[in-house]
Amino acid sequence: MQAGCRVAIIGGGPSGIYCALTLLEMSKNVDITVFERGMPLSTLLPTGGGRCNLSHNLNNGDDFKEFAKNYPRGEKFLYSIFSRYFLSETRDFFKFIGVDTYSGTDNRVFPVSNSSSFVAKRMLEKLKNQSRVKIIKKEVKNVKDLAGFDKVVIATGSKTGYELATAYGHTVTPLAAALCGYITKQKYPPGVVLSTTDGDILFTHQGISGPFAYKHSSINAYKPYPFKLEVPLIDPEALSTAIAASGKKTFLNILSQFVPKSLASVLSEHGERQACHIKKEEIKRLEKLVFDVLSPDSKGETVRAGGVSLKEINSNMQSKINEHVYFCGEVLDIDGFCGGFNLQSCWSTAAVAALSITGAISK
Ligand SMILES: Cc1cc2nc3c(=O)[nH]c(=O)nc-3n(C[C@H](O)[C@H](O)[C@H](O)COP(=O)(O)OP(=O)(O)OC[C@H]3O[C@@H](n4cnc5c(N)ncnc54)[C@H](O)[C@@H]3O)c2cc1C
Repeated sequence: MQAGCRVAIIGGGPSGIYCALTLLEMSKNVDITVFERGMPLSTLLPTGGGRCNLSHNLNNGDDFKEFAKNYPRGEKFLYSIFSRYFLSETRDFFKFIGVDTYSGTDNRVFPVSNSSSFVAKRMLEKLKNQSRVKIIKKEVKNVKDLAGFDKVVIATGSKTGYELATAYGHTVTPLAAALCGYITKQKYPPGVVLSTTDGDILFTHQGISGPFAYKHSSINAYKPYPFKLEVPLIDPEALSTAIAASGKKTFLNILSQFVPKSLASVLSEHGERQACHIKKEEIKRLEKLVFDVLSPDSKGETVRAGGVSLKEINSNMQSKINEHVYFCGEVLDIDGFCGGFNLQSCWSTAAVAALSITGAISK
């Protein structure tokens, strides 16, 4: 890398700012300009419900291939990225900027402060008052605006900004909502939570949300709507046994042993009957809950499937079409499940792009 290398980072979200921090740390020869059209790191603030679920400590962070299975798109591409920059490097880096982290019983990694605004503050503080870093409030609309830079890092996320990638000759794979709720034909009492082996279902006014919907919307991101989604509800054998033991109770009473009462009351028309009079077909019908999924609930969209094609990017996050251009974060055709996987791919791709620019990792 030549002395005084001028790097433009487009997008001041988690990946863009992490890239800037890594560049700053790794080289004294870079001048960094971050272009952000809004508030830097505003997209970090709602993460983890304000707690910032910044990664996932799967198998003590040893097995990046197992970790990469949590990306419906990008799994194989991430092998080479995670093999060079993964959980321990990320946690060390956060520690270095004053953000201690912990992993909870469910292995999700959070800052000890449990505060995404604290994380954002620490990240931005590190960039503040650095003569080599400028953060400019501007929406970059044209690659001509970037002509004076030696390297350009595109970190524009998944909502907009693809026109820059396409202007550099890149292909954007079809975009689709992922990690979102669903609008369903069937409506159940909003606010009720049903636990399933595939994660909790949170019923909403429009349909369903919560971990079950997130997982399925991620896996089925490109499935044409409408489609049917089934979830095991009440094991017929267990229900029959409960009825045999207390047949004089109302059916609603028995059902409430298996599902929340407010859900039980809308599951069967025969709730007030004595359970012993319930027909076998009714018991069989309750074996599963079937949803007619009409569309994604775009209001709750967390990430987007699709993005800049990984075929056109090398393992150093550098464009194969234009060697001055790098990509990181959600602008890429990479998306993960809920649980810190999306931010980990942001940190890792951003760091590898920065390390590659500084020459700290070889081509
Ligand atoms: C509600 C919510 C909760 C989430 N919680 C978690 C979580 O707990 N854990 C997890 O792993 N993931 C979570 N995610 C996903 C995670 O937030 C994203 O994966 C991450 O923000 C992507 O970072 P990014 O920097 O690549 O893109 P973004 O966060 O989208 O940032 C891109 C930035 O670029 C700017 N920009 C775009 N185009 C231009 C342009 N042309 N010129 C200048 N600036 C531009 C945008 O204004 C934006 O600030 C959550 C997402 C949401 C919506």
